Amino acid sequence: MNNRICMIIILAAVVLGACSCTPPRKEESPLEAKIKRFAPAVITGDTSKLSSGDRQALRKLIEAASVMDTLYLRQVWSGNEALRAHLAADTTAEGRQLLRYFDINMSPWSSLDHNAPFIDGIPPKPPQANYYPADMTKIEFSNWLETLPEPAMTQATGFFTTIRRNAAGSLTTVPYSIEYRDLLEPAAVLLREAAALTDNTSLRRYLTLRADAFLSNDYYESDVAWMDLDSPIDVTIGPYEVYMDELFNYKAAFEAYITLRSNEETAKLVKFSRELQGVENSLPIEPRYRNPRLGGMAPIRVVDEVATGGEARAGVQTAAFNLPNDEKVTQEKGSKRVMLRNVQKAKFQDILVPIADRVVDHVQRRLIAFDPFFTHILAHELMHGLGPHAITLNGKATTVRQAMKELGSAIEEAKADISGLFVLQLLVDRGVVDRSMEQPMYATFLAGIFRSVRFGINEAHGRGMALQFNYLMDERAILFDEKGGTFRVDFDRIKPAVTKLTGEIMTLQARGDYEGARNMLEKLAVMRPQMRTALDKLAGIPVDIAPSFPLVAR
Ligand code: ZN
Repeated sequence: MNNRICMIIILAAVVLGACSCTPPRKEESPLEAKIKRFAPAVITGDTSKLSSGDRQALRKLIEAASVMDTLYLRQVWSGNEALRAHLAADTTAEGRQLLRYFDINMSPWSSLDHNAPFIDGIPPKPPQANYYPADMTKIEFSNWLETLPEPAMTQATGFFTTIRRNAAGSLTTVPYSIEYRDLLEPAAVLLREAAALTDNTSLRRYLTLRADAFLSNDYYESDVAWMDLDSPIDVTIGPYEVYMDELFNYKAAFEAYITLRSNEETAKLVKFSRELQGVENSLPIEPRYRNPRLGGMAPIRVVDEVATGGEARAGVQTAAFNLPNDEKVTQEKGSKRVMLRNVQKAKFQDILVPIADRVVDHVQRRLIAFDPFFTHILAHELMHGLGPHAITLNGKATTVRQAMKELGSAIEEAKADISGLFVLQLLVDRGVVDRSMEQPMYATFLAGIFRSVRFGINEAHGRGMALQFNYLMDERAILFDEKGGTFRVDFDRIKPAVTKLTGEIMTLQARGDYEGARNMLEKLAVMRPQMRTALDKLAGIPVDIAPSFPLVAR
């Protein structure tokens, strides 16, 4: 609209008492609305303390991570690589948006919408991914499997093979090292180059062995080396998670996390680890249920992500992971937990803070901060290792996990959360953690409840959170303000309530009391009206982040 016509309209509007001059707001397209659920977040780390060799190695590793992108695209669906190339060539506004959303999902299927396709003409997401022939059924695979001798059977159901058809049309097993040779060879070269540049022995060892694995298809030694990795640059690269194989959960998808170790948080973990036996001895349960001698704890690494590749880039961003999955390695070496601090921080700022602005009391909102948020996550992880695990039930030795059956995860997650608060309070009282953390940790925990429950109470974390929320409401440790529709913590009541709930959950676990756990979950792990109303107020707040990595030159 030009200015003259606009002036006339304004004059007319003044006369008529309304102005229609401002251009009408462009309607948001359904695709834009989908993209907006992911808040753009800059994810990076401080490379200034790295040695010059490590800095050069980092560049090679970031390149290797991008090879994992191509590998993963190919694993998702046979048409995926060509589709992305097609979208990248489309320079229209709509084409750019489609590419943007494709890159968020690394496929034409929207992970937040039950994998519905968002591009016209795309078939439903194949449950067999591109690991098996598109026309293969589960029955055909199982029948074929029965005809195989033992080593071939293990290969066919292994993590690192695809299933293809030979010239005669029958099924055959192909190792990743052959199936993906065109990409694994250059990836191996990059890992070897990085290995030659770094001055850290454990990193050099892992990278060298992983490069070998890409070509030999034997990942065992490199998985063991990953467990022993202790380096300023922390790397996880290769085929790992099996979720995408919806037929059998056999086949592993390629991914990469290129990260930098957080020295500050690592020091905090060391400090906490020294207190653990003292904490166990003070748990609010009968002394006979306490473990007088805690064994070695599973290692935890706190890192900042600087680049990812493959499955790690797709959909909802991982904030922490436990690897490896190969039981041969975990039985001998255990597993390692890696926590991605800067990813947690981005989620905190872009999701938790806006949630708190709508549902937490306006005074207590100011107490919400990242440090207590992350410290509680660390405490949560450490508390998984404390409390009852090996128990005696009807005179027989068993475990809490076995006794609690399908209720085990929700109860264990609730335990780790609530006893995480218990332990932090204990450490505040003992002068290990600064008292300035006290009120912020409770207020931040309150806001975090809504973030977890928002994903639903059918999953273990959300269910465990609903349990804690309703328990604390019943104890009047969390209060609801009818007028403002917000929640706040009663700082006097919350301490005894946290101790009481920690004791109740751990006692159920110590007794292997399945019925008691079921009663508790039935009564408390529910969505009450006040929570429902609060969640309704959270519409429009991003669900996750879409990271950009400044260290990655794309
Ligand atoms: Zn947990």
